[in-house]
Amino acid sequence: MDIRLENLGKSFGNVVAVEGLDLQVGDGEFVAFLGPSGCGKTTTLLMLAGIYKPSTGEIYFGERLVNQIAPKDRNIGMVFQSYALYPHMTVFDNMSYPLKLKGVAKEEQQRRVQEAADTMGIGQLLKRRPGELSGGQQQRVALGRALVKEPDVLLFDEPLSNLDARLRLTMRGEIRQLQQRLGITSIYVTHDQVEAMTMADRIAVIHEGRLEAFGTPEDLYERPRTLFIAGFVGNPPMNLFDVEAQAANGDVRLANESLQLTLARERAALALQHNGPLTLGLRPEDILVADNAQDGALHGQISIVEPLGRDDMLEVVIGQERLLVLADPALRLSAGENVALTVNAEKAHFFDRRTRQSILWGQEK
Ligand code: ATP
Repeated sequence: MDIRLENLGKSFGNVVAVEGLDLQVGDGEFVAFLGPSGCGKTTTLLMLAGIYKPSTGEIYFGERLVNQIAPKDRNIGMVFQSYALYPHMTVFDNMSYPLKLKGVAKEEQQRRVQEAADTMGIGQLLKRRPGELSGGQQQRVALGRALVKEPDVLLFDEPLSNLDARLRLTMRGEIRQLQQRLGITSIYVTHDQVEAMTMADRIAVIHEGRLEAFGTPEDLYERPRTLFIAGFVGNPPMNLFDVEAQAANGDVRLANESLQLTLARERAALALQHNGPLTLGLRPEDILVADNAQDGALHGQISIVEPLGRDDMLEVVIGQERLLVLADPALRLSAGENVALTVNAEKAHFFDRRTRQSILWGQEK
């Protein structure tokens, strides 16, 4: 089932939660709605579910306009952060409940619940009550309950937030595999970019109620079209500096009061051609600690070393600027040390500071 949102909007009194949202989700696609708290993700999801009525615009499931269709008639499955299981009912009764409401025959209920439970690996838990299950098992029941309806669309609202880190990782993989196997069009609301980047075919980044970008995880990471995307997608976040560009012997010199950086090659030349104020973006992984000071394009002092496991994250102070840099823990760097840094010029990003658009990747979404 493909989904189409046209000029979708929702206001609560004076609060505009969602505005002018246009989006097309392909049949069988897994799309994450990603954005900071309060950006309008859940409001959009609840409009898809039919729980909120749009203030403007249309929602189509396939060719069918569903604005006026009641939630129970939309053939959707929903999975929430709070598993929303009935505590006094067994797993079987929880899972068969939507079928009972629909008047599905007993044997058919039995068959579909067993099938969904087996799919979710909880086939042996059907007689237990939710209180006798772990968090992960409860979330599998909730997912199983959404699946028994054989929905056209699955809607997820931060379903893994209550689970510990390890289980989250496992469930991420399980949900994705299941979704791919069953081919059910899915919308997944999250503020966790790792979740969005690892699970989704495409990510809709929502910012202040509007669609900021819609693309594959790779596209958003490699080719951020706005300053917001550049700063929001990627962890640790991209370093952003306001700079001026000048030609310097065929290379391009980028400078502000604190730092001076000369970059070779084509990508920086675009910065030179640009009229107007410029912001340079460098991802922490594209700045390297140089073996010796002569190789360094930038020189600064380490203020913080934060071990992340595979990498150390360094904060390096250069004048008024602070850079985040990822370094090999084997270098055993510590706060207070001076470091020389090299920059992977081919990965530098440039934005127009006024329009907040990338000057490398065009304006269209
Ligand atoms: P979070 O990740 O924190 O859940 P979100 O992106 O899902 O955030 P929404 O819940 O969609 O954000 O809220 C978007 C905006 O609409 C917020 O400013 C919120 O305060 C407002 N809002 C949401 N629901 C209502 C409501 N029922 N009444 C009034 N304002 C609301």
